[in-house]
Amino acid sequence: MERLDHFMARANAAYYAAHDPYADFTTAPEISQVFGELLGLWAATVWESMGRPDPVILAELGPGRGTLMHDALRAIRAAAPAFAAALRLHLVETSPRLRALQAERLRATWHDSVAALPSGPLLLLANEFLDALPIRQFVHRPDGWAERHVDAGAPVDLTCPAPAVPVLPDDGIVELCEPALDIARLLGSRVADSPGVALFLDYGAAGGGDTLQAIRDGRFADPFADAGEADLTAHVDFDAVATAAREAGAAVAGPVSQGAFLVRLGLLHRTERLARTQPPERAAALLGAARRLSEPAWMGRLFQVLAIHSRGLPDLPGFAA
Ligand code: SAH
Repeated sequence: MERLDHFMARANAAYYAAHDPYADFTTAPEISQVFGELLGLWAATVWESMGRPDPVILAELGPGRGTLMHDALRAIRAAAPAFAAALRLHLVETSPRLRALQAERLRATWHDSVAALPSGPLLLLANEFLDALPIRQFVHRPDGWAERHVDAGAPVDLTCPAPAVPVLPDDGIVELCEPALDIARLLGSRVADSPGVALFLDYGAAGGGDTLQAIRDGRFADPFADAGEADLTAHVDFDAVATAAREAGAAVAGPVSQGAFLVRLGLLHRTERLARTQPPERAAALLGAARRLSEPAWMGRLFQVLAIHSRGLPDLPGFAA
């Protein structure tokens, strides 16, 4: 018998150690190179607004194959050489397998946790990172509360004290991602004391409820069966992340929808310009990818963007309507 978050941590560590996650799912940087390029240019603009600190730490959490950062650095070198010279790349990644893939494309220093990042001015990017962190689930029943555990491949709910929840979702299930809140607090207090901005992009459900999902061989699967054979994720509670960061002393921008954010950063213009230089088939694929990232019916609304940042910075690009 294991508490759900302990089960999820163990299952995902085994999954990321043994599988190529990209055989099972895809992510925004793998869909279009423009995604990473825009985030690189976003970081360059924010670096300017921070007063061009040199050196500056450019960090990414859970870089996957390193595609986002590879695309970001190419755009940064072309458009912002001074930022390219000032930045020191630091990656937070626990999977040895993915670290090896990242090292094929990126020259960086690797760390096991956000807490291990060196001090100093910070720009941090994290795409689909928080969704992989382990959650607890509390189930509201007529006779009181129970916490979800996993036993022999099946969920088991054990009576527990009432959790502190602001709103009860319709299905009576409340999720709590303690590692995400710990990271929000840590970054929040860090950027309250020293200049920094951290950008998170992820799925965020409005309304809460049970969002645990498993993807195995490219399909939805039973999250409790065969630990380590499926990728387990849950939607990110951006309001809870924002509150934790604010309570630690940081300012917060967003959450805003990924579609609006990317379009404000120039997704459509940049894609059209790039497409004009490409053969017709590749051009059509690039335009289709931009739609997939930004349109509400695809990833544009389900995905949200939040920044945790030092007070006193000018408005961050992409957040103002
Ligand atoms: N950002 C990438 C990958 C997303 S998959 C993309 O957009 O394609 C999640 C990533 O987070 C993987 O690299 C995984 O190994 C890493 N990861 C998961 N849990 C982690 C943890 N607790 N600490 C550090 N990295 C973690």
